[in-house]
Amino acid sequence: MTDDTVRQTTAGSGTREEMDSYDVLVVGGGVAGSTASVFTARAGLGTVVVDDGESILRRNAHLENFPGFPAGVNSNLFTDMLEAQSTRNGADHLDGRVTEVRRVEDEAGEETPGGDARFVATVATDESDDTELAARFVVVASWADVDYLDGLDVDVRDAGSKRYVDDDGLGRTNVDGVYVGGRLAERYHQAIVAAGHGAEVAITLIHDSETPYYHDWVAPEGYFTDRGREVPPGCEEISETERQARERESIAAMQEYFAEPHPEPQRTHPSLVDDELGRLSDE
Ligand SMILES: Cc1cc2nc3c(=O)[nH]c(=O)nc-3n(C[C@H](O)[C@H](O)[C@H](O)COP(=O)(O)OP(=O)(O)OC[C@H]3O[C@@H](n4cnc5c(N)ncnc54)[C@H](O)[C@@H]3O)c2cc1C
Repeated sequence: MTDDTVRQTTAGSGTREEMDSYDVLVVGGGVAGSTASVFTARAGLGTVVVDDGESILRRNAHLENFPGFPAGVNSNLFTDMLEAQSTRNGADHLDGRVTEVRRVEDEAGEETPGGDARFVATVATDESDDTELAARFVVVASWADVDYLDGLDVDVRDAGSKRYVDDDGLGRTNVDGVYVGGRLAERYHQAIVAAGHGAEVAITLIHDSETPYYHDWVAPEGYFTDRGREVPPGCEEISETERQARERESIAAMQEYFAEPHPEPQRTHPSLVDDELGRLSDE
């Protein structure tokens, strides 16, 4: 979260509250959005992911073609782990549905956007009234939903029953500061492609934000410095002791993740069962 978050500011005779303000708002915490958030958060950009919990991947019965899982992985577990990786790297997550994104100059609410925010989003949540969030950059990674973009004049293309957001090949839309990732950008309908595209879009955004950035790499101590080179921005050198500590933590975390079958029931297409989330009964 940025320093601009939740400050009080004086406007005229009354006091207006400042809404939460981030560098990056990611709409959709599925495969592409969660991956994008890992990169933007690790680059030091205050990042929030708003997701209503319905990655299409949760309908998969067993994910067997994502690299790194030789015997496959439960797709619910995989999706949970993506979110955990995002929060661990510093991104905030909010359960909810983005219903509108508009420009700051069109803002007329009781709260005022902080810092150099360019966009304001309305988020519907189960717990409370609608929440407003402000951001400098927006990554749209909401699989098929584009309704919340109506006020921004983002180029959206109809393709039969689907709608896609046009991009420049690197994730930039026609609206400065708005990026698109994953299936919504009409990339191939595979999780690894969505993840890769989320990363690509995030790196484009990081470059556009003028954040000093070379590669998000972790290298052994001395890799750069023992050759008389500065550690480039985005990179980290770690000692062997630190490497071993991180490996131990990784082993413990993965053992915990894979200790038991995932409790979520299998989902299918919602039209096939009497359940709005498409959940099958356990039998
Ligand atoms: C039955 C099935 C099986 C599959 N099996 C495989 C497989 O074996 N291997 C494989 O590689 N791929 C598989 N896929 C495809 C894979 O799931 C997708 O390609 C991938 O999930 C696309 O990623 P994405 O980030 O674009 O969308 P998603 O992962 O769907 O993420 C989009 C997210 O945006 C959220 N969202 C949408 N609108 C809003 C909003 N307004 N506000 C907030 N959040 C919002 C959604 O809730 C969702 O969490 C399968 C798909 C299906 C349907």
